[in-house]
Amino acid sequence: MELLRDRRVWSAFGAGLVGTALVWAFLRSSGGPEPIKVVEIPTPPPPVEVVESLQSGQTLAEVFGTQGLTGGEILEVVEAIREYESPRRLRPGTEITFAVRPGESLSRISLKLDRDRTLHLLASEGDGAPWDARLDSVRIVRDTILVAGLIGSNLYDSRLSGDGPALTAGQLDQMIGQLSRIYAWQIDFWRDIRTNDSYRLVMARDVRPDGSVRIARILAAEFRNGDRLLTAVRFQPDQSEPVEYYDGEGEALRGQFLLAPLDLARVTSGFSMRRFHPVLRRTRPHLGIDYGASRGTPVRATGGGVVTRAGGWGSYGTAIEVRHANNLRTRYAHLSGIARGVRSGARVEQGQVIGFVGSSGLATASHLHYEFLRDGSHVNPARMQFPRAEPVADEYRELFDANSGHALGLLQRVEMPIPSATARTQD
Ligand SMILES: [Zn+2]
Repeated sequence: MELLRDRRVWSAFGAGLVGTALVWAFLRSSGGPEPIKVVEIPTPPPPVEVVESLQSGQTLAEVFGTQGLTGGEILEVVEAIREYESPRRLRPGTEITFAVRPGESLSRISLKLDRDRTLHLLASEGDGAPWDARLDSVRIVRDTILVAGLIGSNLYDSRLSGDGPALTAGQLDQMIGQLSRIYAWQIDFWRDIRTNDSYRLVMARDVRPDGSVRIARILAAEFRNGDRLLTAVRFQPDQSEPVEYYDGEGEALRGQFLLAPLDLARVTSGFSMRRFHPVLRRTRPHLGIDYGASRGTPVRATGGGVVTRAGGWGSYGTAIEVRHANNLRTRYAHLSGIARGVRSGARVEQGQVIGFVGSSGLATASHLHYEFLRDGSHVNPARMQFPRAEPVADEYRELFDANSGHALGLLQRVEMPIPSATARTQD
């Protein structure tokens, strides 16, 4: 209390420039408690905020110009921003807020650099730099979640356990998308998934204060597909190397061919486990695999190679053929269209979208007819062994073993779901 004697105490309520109210309290030096006199000082009018959004093709200088800044002032603002972010990297749609007190000049400019960072430029009162910058970042919390799923009618319709039930629909879609990409070389998610297949996974996440997820990575997973149990462990020996998924022994999951030419993650609506049976009167055995999918669904090259045909092709309708290493070819038929740049002689990468599902040629319903040929004869890609990416390098072996031991240990904390019918027979 000593400090408060004989002093006028100023208290400021309210944050920043908005609605600041000053309360003046005067404490008398002598005697015991005295009534405190409170005097309200008129609150200055709140600043008016104008929110602009950066339009495509528009420069920051142009936006500032609309707010009445002169050329020299614009340069100063852009310089202040440049210390935190290159103005060229700002995307269309970036929100820029101008706070102006009525009758006065700009008091603050705020730029939402991205979802996680807002840059505030406060008009400086002193003689130094005209703007004081302050960067606000949202607080990111890292967590690790464990999710298990028992597949019902389809992969997106799993009975979830562990931390799964707490996920939002969007987070779940993202997780399923990642899972399907990790196993894209082992499982044809369009055709090989059965009711009562199951999975469990460990996921590391960066979560924002509002609960939204900034980054989510699957560290390890197990997928039970029929009688196969497939393990996946994420590993990146250092930042300069790409992220790969390996099995528990350090063999790469990535291989020469994706099993399905359609990306499950791109077709989240209307997807059904119902197998597609085209009604075709065939005069010869069916030599391909049919994927029922709606018109326009992107079709991707299952392996890297060179396009040998792209366009009208008899009963195939609009079709594409790609030649791969080891005298292998893939064909994609009944398309509604071919992606830009895909023409005979063009090189395509694995996973690249080359065309779109349709019903051209001899097709009664929208579907993709996919063929796989070795030395000119049709083969079933699911029964073949293809070359895989390199296993974990010897020099990183110890690190991999430590990482995978840790991740697979975490995985044990959530139980692999078992179908309820099986559960009943066990008790
Ligand atoms: Zn077919």
